[in-house]
Amino acid sequence: MVSRAAALAGVAGLVALAVSPLVAQTARPAELSPNELGRVMILEYHKVDHPEERWTRTPANFRRDLQRLWERGYRTVALGDYLDGKIALAKGTTPLILTFDDSSPGQFRYVEKNGGWEIDPDCAVGILEQFEREHPEFGHAATFYVLPGASPPNRLFNQPDLVGKKLAYLKSRGYEIGNHTLWHANLAKYDETVVRKQLLEAQEWVQRHLPGFRFRTLALPMGSYPKELAWAISGGPQGAGYRHDAILMVAGGAALSPHARGFDPYHLPRIQATEAELGYWINHFDQRPDERYVSDGDVATVTVPGGKTAMVRPPGGARVLERASR
Ligand SMILES: [Zn+2]
Repeated sequence: MVSRAAALAGVAGLVALAVSPLVAQTARPAELSPNELGRVMILEYHKVDHPEERWTRTPANFRRDLQRLWERGYRTVALGDYLDGKIALAKGTTPLILTFDDSSPGQFRYVEKNGGWEIDPDCAVGILEQFEREHPEFGHAATFYVLPGASPPNRLFNQPDLVGKKLAYLKSRGYEIGNHTLWHANLAKYDETVVRKQLLEAQEWVQRHLPGFRFRTLALPMGSYPKELAWAISGGPQGAGYRHDAILMVAGGAALSPHARGFDPYHLPRIQATEAELGYWINHFDQRPDERYVSDGDVATVTVPGGKTAMVRPPGGARVLERASR
């Protein structure tokens, strides 16, 4: 029987695959060799509410997801930092990107307590922040793809009097707010004028609460691209228009490392955080830890497995280090 430590030390080889699957089940951060060409999970949540359904994760299950990911060395990273290739994590840990679509009430809810407003401990923001208090290294980075012009209950988390307070809170805490169109328009169905209006007006509606606010990323409703990709990337009046550095799909599995050749920010795949799909991918990386992005602990260098330097995208200022192969 190969020891667990020995199996994991052999991530570059195939030792971990040859032994019992149980061996690799909870790969501890310190045991993983850096691989900054590995893949990254961008999780896609919808409702956090009761009961558990196709588009709903219960608060208890959401907490459990965070726990499972934490134990395996995943740490939240802001989508913008991932896009910039600035993944500042401790050595041996893996970036995790959380996204929440459709601004439903259970994602961010205030409840009245002692004459004031408190964040509901059972909404996504409340759960994430409580988890961070217990595990500070996990962080709380997340992007909320909001619908500013949708009908209730999906209009900006559904507490009309508290919309400004919520958006300001998200911004002050470093959460990202992303474009999901004004009211969940299927962009494949519309002409250029409507597509651009949906994307620009969503930003203008958020600006009513956050002056000067600009979206950085777009998540496509239903994953539908408009007829021309350019319509989705940028538009509107000079200086006051929209510009998306990345476009997220609704499916497609784990995403490429931002350092990898072939990284395409306009077609970023996501993993739907359902019991089955998230479970599949957690298990996938438990079985194949060598496919995971694992940080080298230094944001200024890109550490890759032996022989893989040619797979790195033309450098954006980072130094590439090749790990000795074992
Ligand atoms: Zn949506």
